[in-house]
Amino acid sequence: MKANPTLSLTKEEMKTYGYKVIDAIVDHFETQNQKSPVYNASREEMDKLFLEQAPEKGEDGTKVLDKVLNEVLDKTDILSHPKNYSFVPGPSNYVSVLADTLATGFNVFSGGWVNAPAAAELEIVTINWLLNLFKLPTKKGGGIFTSGGSMANLTALVTARRQKCGDDFSKAVIYLSDQTHSSNIKAIRTIGFKKEQVRIIPTDLEFRVSINKLKNAIAKDRLAGLKPFCIIGTAGATNTGTVDPLNEIAKICKEEKLWFHIDAAYGGAVILAKNGSKLLNGIQKADSITVDPHKWFFQPYEMGCLLVRNHKWLSKTFTEKPEYLRDIEGNTSEINFYDHGIQLTRRFRALKLYMSIKTFGLESFRKAIDYSLSIAEKTEDSLRKSKYWEIVSPATLGIINFRFNPIEYNFSEKKLDELNQKISEEIINTKEAMLVTTVLQKQVVLRMCLINPRTSFADIKQTINACEKIGKELIKEK
Ligand SMILES: *Cc1c(COP(=O)(O)O)cnc(C)c1O
Repeated sequence: MKANPTLSLTKEEMKTYGYKVIDAIVDHFETQNQKSPVYNASREEMDKLFLEQAPEKGEDGTKVLDKVLNEVLDKTDILSHPKNYSFVPGPSNYVSVLADTLATGFNVFSGGWVNAPAAAELEIVTINWLLNLFKLPTKKGGGIFTSGGSMANLTALVTARRQKCGDDFSKAVIYLSDQTHSSNIKAIRTIGFKKEQVRIIPTDLEFRVSINKLKNAIAKDRLAGLKPFCIIGTAGATNTGTVDPLNEIAKICKEEKLWFHIDAAYGGAVILAKNGSKLLNGIQKADSITVDPHKWFFQPYEMGCLLVRNHKWLSKTFTEKPEYLRDIEGNTSEINFYDHGIQLTRRFRALKLYMSIKTFGLESFRKAIDYSLSIAEKTEDSLRKSKYWEIVSPATLGIINFRFNPIEYNFSEKKLDELNQKISEEIINTKEAMLVTTVLQKQVVLRMCLINPRTSFADIKQTINACEKIGKELIKEK
């Protein structure tokens, strides 16, 4: 192809290209349940297919598109597949996919009010919807959409530190549990805390932070002349779905004047369930909450969210006034989201949450989440009744941990670890289901995270039966 210095296509070319893209996405939505959720390959294999220098000359766009459709997009795990039970699946939804496409197509700059007032307004509106769900004050409260939960946690911890410690945080100490998500540790390291400023508090037998040990740690730190400033609680631990004793942590934070951050990246969406406010009781007492719409709010990647009890905490932490932004400042009720977080140039993330909630209604989201909670309980029941399976952590916020442990055998812990590791490896090798292990109380266990509303009980049964068959074969071999 000749050089194309304006990087543009004709109207007809754009339409042909665009329809092809839409057809491919629709086809994927229609057929993904029949595809395999698992794909893996080595660096060597990928290099062989794709490694090249940047081409000086372009080629026919539809050829490039075909290559991507045929050779790139098929080489990935499918996180929205009904038999992808691992990590945290991303069920997604088509309306939000197209909302994201629109936001990209119009290249909306969601940084300053004057650049895109409606985009800022929709972010305010959708943040308010979330504040309302979590019973945080909607007048004073605020928040911001981020790339994901990791960035939301980072934004929260920068804000907490700024509010509680100002510029001197040399003696500041932060508290979390051994089940707190790793992104918090990454954030703590990113903002320059030393290892000595972090207390990792053990959890109890049900994986909740030990309140007694937490209180002890704070008291000892005060005696040593240190400055406790923040506790991170978890509402929906990624491993087990466990919710920390939020009310008790809130009480400590109040007494000790500490910031209460709740990482609800995984579990936050459960607030929509029938008994959601009971399951997440105490979440309304947080100073800041991380939720992750690209998990159980069914949004495509990337979308995280930080909510705060007082929006001024964000602007006080992140506002900088360089000369080149002079002209785009509005009055104070007109929010410039670049003043509420780290990014200046931001994509229009609010649009997908807005359009999908408007289209399906909260009612649909509520039903989808209730369904996941009940299917996880049903799975637990059926595993408990089997003589081959043992529940290690019961269905909690859609997550269940279990292991192959046939009653008549009395296998050693080491043998059970090996067996369950092998079952996971073999089921993934069949490419039929994505089911990985985790480690709980030193035991290797299988973990299912059941947040996909298209996962049926029959899907789960098939996977467990296949695992059981593998397990039985394995013990026959010896
Ligand atoms: C997934 C998750 C995160 C990280 O969120 P990303 O969107 O992956 O960056 C943080 N905390 C918890 C509890 C999570 O489950």
